Amino acid sequence: MTTEAQLTDKIQHIKAALLALGDLRPGALSEQYNTCRTPGCRCKADPPQRHGPYHQLSYSHHGRSRTENIRPEHIDAVNSQIANYRKLRDLIDQWIDTAIELDRLRRNTHPDKSHGRKPGKPDPGAPSPQTDTSHPASTLKPLQTRAFQAFDAQLRFSTFGVQAAA
Ligand SMILES: [Zn+2]
Repeated sequence: MTTEAQLTDKIQHIKAALLALGDLRPGALSEQYNTCRTPGCRCKADPPQRHGPYHQLSYSHHGRSRTENIRPEHIDAVNSQIANYRKLRDLIDQWIDTAIELDRLRRNTHPDKSHGRKPGKPDPGAPSPQTDTSHPASTLKPLQTRAFQAFDAQLRFSTFGVQAAA
């Protein structure tokens, strides 16, 4: 079973990995092959030898899709930025997963910090709705009940009024 110490240790490793990340950017590289307008060019031969590859970077950011042309000498750098970006997203997911696990573990192993309920023992003699108003935790209930009774009385009154007018 995973302990609290193991989970906090895992989060420390995730933070260290985040700090160690180099340049990054979102996107995906693709290769494009084009034809030109020069008559008799090889791109119109049979079979056609189209021009390229040209490298394009596509990405979405702030809800907008964009495409940029990438020069051949920048492809390696962009590829490593894209890889680092995926690592960033992966590390964030891991951190969140671990943080949720850690929080659950902490709250389950410290029942004294919850609302005084004993763990794992549902009370078969839970208070019925009739006796529930005396429960100290439900201080709002009598007010809500009174408010409903007032509303109910108004409803009866107005119904009576309609009947009386008819
Ligand atoms: Zn051509």
